[in-house]
Amino acid sequence: MDKPYELPGSRCQDAVLPTLRELTWDQAVGRACCSCGKQLTLGAVSRGIIRGHHGVHVTDAEVWSCPSGVSG
Ligand SMILES: [Zn+2]
Repeated sequence: MDKPYELPGSRCQDAVLPTLRELTWDQAVGRACCSCGKQLTLGAVSRGIIRGHHGVHVTDAEVWSCPSGVSG
């Protein structure tokens, strides 16, 4: 269970959220699944906001997962 994001059959929306540093640009702007990195289309599941800051700049990122029922 040391790689929860990559377990076959596990749902992205159940995976532990990555940290802000681990997000790609696409993930940080909500274009890609925050767990598997696939491009999101319809029915993305909101995972909430990962809070962070870079100096004085707030870098909160709203992240999304693949919809349920989609296997990765
Ligand atoms: Zn995914």
